[in-house]
Amino acid sequence: MTDTSQEFLDRHQELGPGQSFCFACHPGVPCFNACCSALDLMLTPYDALRLRRTTGQSSREFLHLFATLLAMPDLGLPLLHMRMLDDARRKCPFQREAGCAVYQDRPSACRTYPLGRATQPGAEGTQERVFVLREPHCRGFEAGKDFGAQAWMHDQGLEPYNAANDRYMALAADLRRFVAGGGAALGPKQTGMAGLALYQPDEFQIFLRRSGLMDRLDLAEERRQAVLEDEEACLDFGYDWLGLSLLGHTEALRPKG
Ligand code: SF4
Ligand code: SF4
Repeated sequence: MTDTSQEFLDRHQELGPGQSFCFACHPGVPCFNACCSALDLMLTPYDALRLRRTTGQSSREFLHLFATLLAMPDLGLPLLHMRMLDDARRKCPFQREAGCAVYQDRPSACRTYPLGRATQPGAEGTQERVFVLREPHCRGFEAGKDFGAQAWMHDQGLEPYNAANDRYMALAADLRRFVAGGGAALGPKQTGMAGLALYQPDEFQIFLRRSGLMDRLDLAEERRQAVLEDEEACLDFGYDWLGLSLLGHTEALRPKG
């Protein structure tokens, strides 16, 4: 997920279909680890889920140790930021001399770099534009392999991240349209519930078991079990439930008739 402001789009070179860039990042590059400090690193719900898979922490522990949960000022949609260390370089807490300590489950922004992905949800699916972020500190462009945008995404294991993150962007776009049409942005209670559904699937599962919420929904038994046992299925349900409860969308989830 990337900033899609016009200023961002104007500053960077778009990587169109058929175009490629030459790149390699490995411990031998002179700038190794240079990009893992002083970051404004936003974590999507799927990023947080994958990071917790590596750290083995509950969402509560993860939030306490590594991240700050904020809300988008215009929408009230929860948004997680990774906290950098309080040292002179403001290093990412997972940066080690040998590289990223959570490499297999590193966040989507880290995987996508040095590309940036701007998305526009629409009726025909998500439209994507990809940009090359040529920053002076990054020496990875000096030698390497040629990649097109999709080859890079595949190489970095981004397919499940992009698919999950597109759901977050679609929810934000739907909420933005709702607010622009005169609806109210999420209040603190709704922001809290959305934070639970999106960023704390382990606790959302407990809430679902206790509240009986799923009993009031038209939900196949197989999916119900998956939601209670699998955090990815629970996150997917969380998006559908927020679509229904906040915006009245019934395509993916309906109250029992
Ligand atoms: S998560 Fe890993 S790749 Fe991303 S900034 Fe931190 S150390 Fe770097
Ligand atoms: S600055 Fe570029 S080449 Fe250097 S470690 Fe980061 S991504 Fe790799």
